[in-house]
Amino acid sequence: MTNFGDYHVHTPFCPHGTTDAFEEYINTALMQGLKAISFTEHAPLPDGFIDPTPNKDSGMNVADVSAYISTLKQLKTKYADKITINIGFEVDYIEGFEEATSDFLNQFGEEIDDAILSVHMLKSPQGAYYCLDFSSDQFSELIDVFGDIDTVYQTYYATLLKSIKADLGPYKPNRIGHITLIEKFKRVYPNFKQYTNELNTILDEVMKRNYHLDLNTAGLYKPDCQTIYPNPVVVKSAIKRGIPLIPGSDSHEASTLSRGFDQIAHYLSEN
Ligand SMILES: [Zn+2]
Ligand SMILES: [Zn+2]
Repeated sequence: MTNFGDYHVHTPFCPHGTTDAFEEYINTALMQGLKAISFTEHAPLPDGFIDPTPNKDSGMNVADVSAYISTLKQLKTKYADKITINIGFEVDYIEGFEEATSDFLNQFGEEIDDAILSVHMLKSPQGAYYCLDFSSDQFSELIDVFGDIDTVYQTYYATLLKSIKADLGPYKPNRIGHITLIEKFKRVYPNFKQYTNELNTILDEVMKRNYHLDLNTAGLYKPDCQTIYPNPVVVKSAIKRGIPLIPGSDSHEASTLSRGFDQIAHYLSEN
């Protein structure tokens, strides 16, 4: 596995993750022979946005950002001859909060080596926000609020397209996170529509902008999903377009670093 890095990793600064220390992740990465690790903590949710999850713990605390960056700077230097450490964020795209998101990126952009733009929040027809990947119970609530599962998926893909087209300033992340995350609970709430047109439009826009895709193995280990993000059909369409796929385990604990990379290795060599 020495040819790969793990480019989507959470940290002790994640309010819903584990307290595993940075160096536990780094030592695990060294043991696995990874060439790089990108720490991509959930950026603070934009100013003025109220986190709809029960524990309001989707993003890191804004007061911790400076400590997060300075800790990583020290670790980068300390391990410079052993592994590439990237300082990063997983930034939420939230419809209607583009300006506050740009403000965050403009404030810290110079310090960021690597970042992912992800959609976890959907705006309902009534104007309220919902987290789409919190739990299957909340997903069922989403179906009720939006009317049916097709509308939930349509809204997700429309929001994803907006995230790709959004003007978030010069520090906008160029990698789009887990673009079929909406499938996280598909074994409990199946949807047999393929959304081929929506996904082709999304992939065309990604290609046009020279963006990259997060090739995310976390879904393999979600019992109600059991597939990677994007799903294999979409991965093949992305490869046809020459879109770079960047592997990430989306780990929230050190022990799951590079988990499932054996199952995506063939995509990475094809690319
Ligand atoms: Zn997380
Ligand atoms: Zn995510």
